[in-house]
Amino acid sequence: MCLDNLTFKVTRRDEEALATALRGIFEQRSDEFLQFLSEHRGNFPNCMSPAGVLREIFEGIQVEALVVPDTNGFPEMSKTYFNIYLPPPTRDSDGHRRWMRLFQEAKYPTTRGTGFAKIWEGCEYCHGRDHPRVVCPFLSIPNWPMARGL
Ligand SMILES: [Zn+2]
Repeated sequence: MCLDNLTFKVTRRDEEALATALRGIFEQRSDEFLQFLSEHRGNFPNCMSPAGVLREIFEGIQVEALVVPDTNGFPEMSKTYFNIYLPPPTRDSDGHRRWMRLFQEAKYPTTRGTGFAKIWEGCEYCHGRDHPRVVCPFLSIPNWPMARGL
């Protein structure tokens, strides 16, 4: 999931601050997540309870800033988003879509703005869903056929 509308800085410290804020927000929604995990937690050992799985998911939150440059060449118009990575509880595609909706439909009030989900269409180069093509990591591969500037 990617969050828009937050003013955290592009630093490891602010990424950690956002991860901490998200843990607090998610804790408040634990009942909703536990209900989902009571049916969908196939990526975790059978012996783990929904509460145990949820604890591992919360501990596994990773935040990475994503700076998207303005495609018209104005550096001051670049925009910062924050990608949120969580261990996926299920491999079932319908279950995964439901899991993603639990996050994408929510608002994320923090001390640095109220975040909301930014949904990328899927990168045209690598099909990744956490960035637009203008910042595709494939473009950084030496001699990649669609290297920057071509
Ligand atoms: Zn890509």
